[in-house]
This record gives sequence, structure tokens and C-alpha cells, in this order.
Amino acid sequence: MFHQYFFEIIGQIAFIIVISLFVLLILALVLGVVLVKKKILIFPKIVIFALDFLYSPLKYLTKTLGFNEVMVDQIGVEIRNKINENNFKEKDNKNKIIVFPHCLRHENCPAKLGEMGLKCSECGLCSIGEIKPKAEEIGYNIFIVPGSTFIKKIVKNHKFESVLGIACYEDLNISMMNLSNFSPQGVLLSRTGCFKTDVDVQTVLEKIGYEKKIGNISKNQNMTLNNEISVCQNEKDSKYL
Ligand code: SF4
Repeated sequence: MFHQYFFEIIGQIAFIIVISLFVLLILALVLGVVLVKKKILIFPKIVIFALDFLYSPLKYLTKTLGFNEVMVDQIGVEIRNKINENNFKEKDNKNKIIVFPHCLRHENCPAKLGEMGLKCSECGLCSIGEIKPKAEEIGYNIFIVPGSTFIKKIVKNHKFESVLGIACYEDLNISMMNLSNFSPQGVLLSRTGCFKTDVDVQTVLEKIGYEKKIGNISKNQNMTLNNEISVCQNEKDSKYL
């Protein structure tokens, strides 16, 4: 009698847990979709917690419901981008790194593999060669990694406060999950795959604040120029007084 009562209670508790998890899964998905479609942040930290904690079941559920399971990663990346955006911007560029996937490089890429990834010679054959000099000009450190083991090496051997990753949604979401202490930001590849991928250079430059920084530099240079013109003008004027 006691045993039967005990197992009934256990069964009821298990049922309640399963139902609660299911409700949480649906809620996380719905809130996530609202965020991605309407760009409204509703309980972002709870959604991120649910997404990380229930990552595999959520993927299974989306697939079972007939959706693309990458949707879970897309929601994760979009929310993390929103949550970390200001923290990322506030950090000094010297303490920020950009991590490129090696699939972005050209098939004739001459870069050699070093301890921290590929050493790009800026040959100009792929978008990395276009972004790298600009990002370094404003203080960023660049890494091109052939796999996640290199990211672990970078974290271990290199001091940084923030990271921008470029990858497909799935890799981005998992990397941003693992690097959540570094205010991660992610840019999606414009062409995904394992080979000959691509990224929108302008989107990356905007994300790292390149245009803004260069804009400020040009503005300061203009101000200096204007001041110099004024000084010249004053000197000229004084000659004719
Ligand atoms: S720009 Fe750099 S990464 Fe791209 S192909 Fe050339 S050497 Fe390789």
C-alpha cells in the first residue's frame, strides 16, 4: 500500500516536471521568436538560461514541430548580441579580439598555421584580408581559427575583455555560450558551409565601429586643418593691417 502511494507521488512529480519543462521550452521559443521578429527584449536572461539549459531538447522540439532547428541558435545569437551590445562597445578596442573561421579564406590562401591559428599575410584574396588591417588600425587583435581547440588556446594565452565572432548560427551560438564572460558579439556568415564561405565586410566594420572611429579621426583632422587655416589666415591678415 505504502509502495503504491509512494510511486504514485513520484509519477505525479515526474509528470509535473515534464509538463513544466515543455511549457518552458514553448515559452522560450515564443519569446525568442518575438525577439528575432519584433526586436523586443522580453525577459532576455530567462530566455538565454532556458536556451542554454535546454539546448538539445529545444532543438529536438523545433525539429519535431517542423521548424528548422537552427532557429534555436539564431534566437540565441540575436539575444546575446542585444544583451552584450553596450558592454562590447564600452570596452577599449585594444582589449577586444575578432575570431574568424578558417573557412573564410580563399582556396589559394598562403597563410601558414601558427600556435594561435592562421597567420594572414593580407594577400587580398578573401574578406579577412580586407577587414584585418582596418580592425588592427583601430586596436583589435585578430585570430583565424581552424577549430574550437584554438579558441581555448586563445582564452588561455591571450588577455582580452570582449570578443567578436564570425561564423554560422550554430557555431556562433555555442561559442558565445562558452565565452559569455567576454561580452560576445556575433556576425553571421553571408554564405555558410565548410568551404568558400563569405561575410559581409561592411557589417563587420560597422560592428567594430570602424567607420565611426575613422569618421572621428577625419573630423579631428578637419578641425586641426581648419585651425591651421585660421592661424594662416590670421597671420596673413596681420601682414595687411
Ligand atoms: S587575405 Fe589572409 S586569410 Fe585571406 S586568403 Fe589571403 S592570406 Fe589567406
